[in-house]
Amino acid sequence: MYGIALDLGTSGFRLQLLDLRNGNIIKTVMTMRHPMPGGNVIDHLGFAIQVGGDSANKIITHTIRKMFDELEIPLDLIHKIAVCGNPIQLSLFQNIEIRDLAYAGKNMQKRLGIENVKRGLKIYAGSEIFGINTDLDECEVIVLPSIEHEIGADALAMMVKTDFIEQNDVAIVTDYGTNAEMALKVGDRIVTCSAAAGPSIEGQGIKCGMLASPGAISDVNEEDGFWRITVLDENMGPGKGDLIDPITGVIVEKGEVSARGITGTGVISAISLAISSGLISKLPELPEGRLILGDRVILTEEDIAEAGKAIGAIRAAHLTLLIESGVKYEDLKYMYMSGASGTYVDAEKGRKIGLVPAFSRKIVQFGNTSLELAKDVVLGNYALEEIVSLADRIKADHIMLASNETFKNIYACELAYWTEGMSEDLYNHFLESYGMPKLPEITFVPSVEKRVTRDIEDAGYQGLKIIKDLDMLIEEESSGCMQCLMCERECPEQAIHVVPKNGHVYVDYTAHLCLGMSCKRCVGICPVKAISYREIRPVSPGDLSVV
Ligand code: SF4
Ligand code: SF4
Repeated sequence: MYGIALDLGTSGFRLQLLDLRNGNIIKTVMTMRHPMPGGNVIDHLGFAIQVGGDSANKIITHTIRKMFDELEIPLDLIHKIAVCGNPIQLSLFQNIEIRDLAYAGKNMQKRLGIENVKRGLKIYAGSEIFGINTDLDECEVIVLPSIEHEIGADALAMMVKTDFIEQNDVAIVTDYGTNAEMALKVGDRIVTCSAAAGPSIEGQGIKCGMLASPGAISDVNEEDGFWRITVLDENMGPGKGDLIDPITGVIVEKGEVSARGITGTGVISAISLAISSGLISKLPELPEGRLILGDRVILTEEDIAEAGKAIGAIRAAHLTLLIESGVKYEDLKYMYMSGASGTYVDAEKGRKIGLVPAFSRKIVQFGNTSLELAKDVVLGNYALEEIVSLADRIKADHIMLASNETFKNIYACELAYWTEGMSEDLYNHFLESYGMPKLPEITFVPSVEKRVTRDIEDAGYQGLKIIKDLDMLIEEESSGCMQCLMCERECPEQAIHVVPKNGHVYVDYTAHLCLGMSCKRCVGICPVKAISYREIRPVSPGDLSVV
């Protein structure tokens, strides 16, 4: 008898196969990217509204079934699946209304006739989600509850699986991801917000960036005047990489693990080290315009500015939480970090560049709390009533950052700091001119406690399987297409292919590679407007044969 814990994250899905007889973790399967086009929740939401919930749901459930295939067990032996994630991912998984998450304003919702959906705990038969004839009819699929509106089950997980919820001192918890969800606790009051940090926080959108996976640079440290690179090994543990001169690229000592790219935590580490070692004196300028971190890995000034926008959004959100809640900066005692980036980042380096409030007294790092909570539910460590009552008990005030003046003003300072090299003095001057307290001078080093060494601490005795290539395509008939292939050449992700079929011409967008609604460069370059990214439909390899 097996159970499955499933985390539907914005940057990819993670799943663990559990033995229900003894609670052991057997195997972990993860995807390298989210299966739908786009790199953040706004892209996913926009895509789902464009193509319709059925199509988005098809892409998600097809991908999960592909992950099940990697388990190599008869599916009728799976008795329970618990699913955690943010409200958008969980809504798409269940194929329920999502438009209330896209249109937050009450007037707009009224005009469109959209009601807010209560996203409580839901239990389905496996066949309701994955279809009949999938051998999952007897399986119970438990979708974990949101706290309210856009504060999802993943936020519940980060509050419950860290000490945050029991904390009596002022504390912030942040799930570091493309959409950084965070909560502040002051006494019994909880105030939440979520900052659209963007994909660079997880290494995407960076020239040599990649998600946290084997071969990714996750940290850099100074050693004998050079940079020692840390690279994730096959088990996602920190491996010894090259010792390198980051300006000339000369490898002083070959490491044990080769780097293929750099993940968000590696970027943060490199920026922090470049600033503290004097290689960056004015952001985002670099010596020779780049840092060399390996044979195939460089970091450019554009990368620094891109990462800075993400770090800046997170720092602005942390300050906004404190200011809007009337809490003095120096009263912040605990900072809890969760998510892959929150686990692997060197907290002290992150603190130096503003990823963690510099004035927090104690930093505690956790791993993937969403997967952990889903696992607890499958194994019965929490009764379902307990989860529901926890979600009901957490009554959070939510700050919508998109319309918050405090956030907008601080973020403007962050942009000037990261992209134009504005000095810290001027930054503070602007904060005071907006009527906000300036950042305090820090005369102490906070204590850092790392509760885990990996995002997923135990991958199971059969280990970790990473699915790199997902197979869903998005198809659009390109009427009037001249097959000039300009769209293929324009695409930054090699995601589009022109395919003549049965006397028609189609373009196939590879769903997980395509950047989606926020890109559409292929549409813009087409000289005859043969494609619009509107009349699109997802097709799995099974569908292709009938076209
Ligand atoms: S750019 Fe337009 S015309 Fe050219 S191949 Fe692509 S869809 Fe066809
Ligand atoms: S150019 Fe077109 S196919 Fe390529 S990533 Fe952008 S939207 Fe997707």
